[in-house]
Amino acid sequence: MKTMPSRSDIQLVYVCPACEAEHYAMVEETQFPGGVLCYCGKKIKFETIYDTEVVFKTRERKTKEIERKEEPDNQILEDVISALCSVGYKNPEAKKKALEATDVCDNVEDCLNYCFTN
Ligand SMILES: [Zn+2]
Repeated sequence: MKTMPSRSDIQLVYVCPACEAEHYAMVEETQFPGGVLCYCGKKIKFETIYDTEVVFKTRERKTKEIERKEEPDNQILEDVISALCSVGYKNPEAKKKALEATDVCDNVEDCLNYCFTN
């Protein structure tokens, strides 16, 4: 049985403005006035953090290369949708078919062929 994490411990990293040394703090620690004395002798005050939000991503991030490829794909998608609409498809249906097609084909013509034959 798979289970999602229920919470996460966040460690905040503050960088000393004088010497760029890193200082770690828990969220709660930033809510007390005071601060820390850096190794360089400078006193650092942490900006208070009241809450953090963590998103657990269960899918690996797509690589940059694939992301870059998405733009023309969206253009194809839009072209296919408008082509389907112009031959009488309702928009939601056209979108669904177009999404299916752009998964399989990478140009408008092939996508339309796919749509009309499936
Ligand atoms: Zn320092």
